[in-house]
Amino acid sequence: MADTTQRALLNAFLRTISDDIIPLTSSGVAKGDKVFGASILRKSTLEVIVSATNNETKSPLLHGETNCLLKFHELEDRPSPKDCILLSTHEPCSLCLSAISWSGFNSFFYLFTYEDTREVFTNPHDLKILEEVFKVKAEGETDEAYNRRPLYNRQNAFWTGKSVAVLIEELGDPAEKTEMLERFRVVRERYNGLSHTYQRSKGKSDIPLP
Ligand SMILES: [Zn+2]
Repeated sequence: MADTTQRALLNAFLRTISDDIIPLTSSGVAKGDKVFGASILRKSTLEVIVSATNNETKSPLLHGETNCLLKFHELEDRPSPKDCILLSTHEPCSLCLSAISWSGFNSFFYLFTYEDTREVFTNPHDLKILEEVFKVKAEGETDEAYNRRPLYNRQNAFWTGKSVAVLIEELGDPAEKTEMLERFRVVRERYNGLSHTYQRSKGKSDIPLP
């Protein structure tokens, strides 16, 4: 049985992003695809089963997560989704939250939040779609209460979603926390470099929401 403490999960997630997702993302960005990737890991061993990245030059529906879920379903010998964790580089958008639900996964983690996606990765679409399409002001609700209300339910009947930052925060040992934050910063910087490459080239694409 694998160690599924926060430390073991963080080690597996940061290693998977560095060793599996970032190299795939580099090739994707070189072809004109956005950054954003995902991996599916076996809960019992934390080994990577499949990884994929955004492939919007083929279809705008091929986000990192949906592409990874499609590849998972192409595997003949695959574990039950309930025995797996979906790891996403970025907080899944509304399309991907639904895809995770429809695919039967009950646990996902992500490295960057929607706010990171908008501010650092210059991509406002995740937040904008949730706000424009799904968020409805309740009768009599004040602007303040409306703005404070979460955009989706991070713990629900289908799954639990959690950020890597929260996992780091949950580490008990301060030295371990500092070490993980440093590794998080390094991965973040590598990702930023890839994102800048994409931003420089995106004007040439016909992706609907570049
Ligand atoms: Zn998505």
